[in-house]
Amino acid sequence: MSLAIHWFRRDLRLTDNSALNAAIAASANVIPVYVTSLWKSVHQWTGAARQQFLVECLSSLHESLLKAGSRLIIREGDAVSALAKLVQETGAKAVYTNRDPDPFGQAIEAQLKVALEHLGVAFFCFKDHALHERDEVLTCSGSAFRVFTPYSKAWAKLPKPQPGPKVTHLKATVQPESLPLPTLATWNLQAEDVQLPEAGEAAAQKRLSRFVENGFLKYAQTRDFPAEDGTSRISQDLRFGLLSIRKVFAALEVGARGAKVDQARSAQIYNNELCWREFYFQVLWNKPEVLDLEYSPAYRKMPWSYDTAAFERWCVGQTGFPIVDAGMRQLFQTGFMHNRVRMIVAMFLTKDLHLDWRMGERWFMKRLLDGEIASNNGGWQWSAGTGTDAAPYFRIQNPWSQSLRFDAAGTYIKQWIPELAHLPSALLHKPPPPGLRLADNYPLPMVDHARERDIALFTYKRHLSSGPRPE
Ligand SMILES: Cc1cc2nc3c(=O)[nH]c(=O)nc-3n(C[C@H](O)[C@H](O)[C@H](O)COP(=O)(O)OP(=O)(O)OC[C@H]3O[C@@H](n4cnc5c(N)ncnc54)[C@H](O)[C@@H]3O)c2cc1C
Repeated sequence: MSLAIHWFRRDLRLTDNSALNAAIAASANVIPVYVTSLWKSVHQWTGAARQQFLVECLSSLHESLLKAGSRLIIREGDAVSALAKLVQETGAKAVYTNRDPDPFGQAIEAQLKVALEHLGVAFFCFKDHALHERDEVLTCSGSAFRVFTPYSKAWAKLPKPQPGPKVTHLKATVQPESLPLPTLATWNLQAEDVQLPEAGEAAAQKRLSRFVENGFLKYAQTRDFPAEDGTSRISQDLRFGLLSIRKVFAALEVGARGAKVDQARSAQIYNNELCWREFYFQVLWNKPEVLDLEYSPAYRKMPWSYDTAAFERWCVGQTGFPIVDAGMRQLFQTGFMHNRVRMIVAMFLTKDLHLDWRMGERWFMKRLLDGEIASNNGGWQWSAGTGTDAAPYFRIQNPWSQSLRFDAAGTYIKQWIPELAHLPSALLHKPPPPGLRLADNYPLPMVDHARERDIALFTYKRHLSSGPRPE
């Protein structure tokens, strides 16, 4: 029986794994492999917490494979050379993998296809990371949608793919050598004191079940309040493929059965969030230049600030704006930040500090466990007002009123800023009287929001009226 390789990448699970199921259906003699990337820019686009989570997910996957009668083979370095070598060592006749949604992964797939063709080995790449991929949701004229609302309507109408089975037995006649499972030392990273969620597909499944049973039908009411346990917290699981998106959608469909009108609204809003994720995948696929440039050409070459001292205060949560600092500290200590607060801190960086959104985008990628190139870029461009159907640049969130609206009791702020825990909540949502600090060890607001808002409006307006920008 011919031998195949399944190349694990962002699909670290045995349940409903498209490429793995296809490999087993075709050969039942499958070697599972993970190639540890040692890419040079690793320190720019990820950080110790996300890599530690990856390490733990790989360890959990290895345990699951042992139970299934196999083990995870680890190779490292350039994936194309590593897989070509493994093919030659084992005599495998095919390589299976799931398509990567980002341009870096896609470039490797293209190179691997050519390298395997030279070796006379088949290469099969599957849709797995999205319900609908980049070229499935198109306008009537067959082009890509540029704005979200019509995209989401078309997306919602399409029938959704059903989940496949879980792999319980995996055998290979050949047992190639394996490197040890990676550790942080693999990337010369030092461990950080970050509270990570439990890794692995079983833990991810528990998070999903908990949300479907307890939170899903209240999502519309709870999702914007960072002090509440009101969102699913599965973003890192989707990022690493611990959960299949088909399983998530199917579980939510079951959870929504018999829902009352207001509950059905929650279900619809939640599905819309899953749709945003896929919208941003297709934006990045159609316009990979957004990683360097503003999506909307009119906003290119804006006179952004690069004030590193201001940026550092934002990174460590010392801006003197409690809601901003709470978010930045949550990110630092847990590798997660609530979506509402992501929007607040991103608008603060771009509209109050006038810093280049790319600085914030990179910091998020380094710190977020769910750091997803497409969603992160989309979220940052949305906040900067430079993106697809971006909040127009003149819609500038006021961090004080956002804080009052979404954390009125100050519970979230006090959780992450212990210096302010003793204060009445009313003091947390407005600038302190001139010269007075909220607490001895807490800084004064680093800027005056009303003034910076005027400067931002003036700068954007002047830039837009100064003529077209080169693409
Ligand atoms: C500036 C900024 C940067 C962001 N960076 C990322 C990122 O790197 N990775 C990431 O997964 N999300 C990112 N988001 C989107 C969103 O904040 C997170 O997906 C969400 O907070 C994750 O928590 P959750 O799983 O509890 O979300 P839930 O509210 O439970 O949503 C369910 C799932 O839908 C998807 N989703 C939700 N909102 C969005 C959105 N606006 N855009 C794309 N997908 C969404 C996520 O996969 C999420 O897990 C960013 C948003 C902003 C404003």
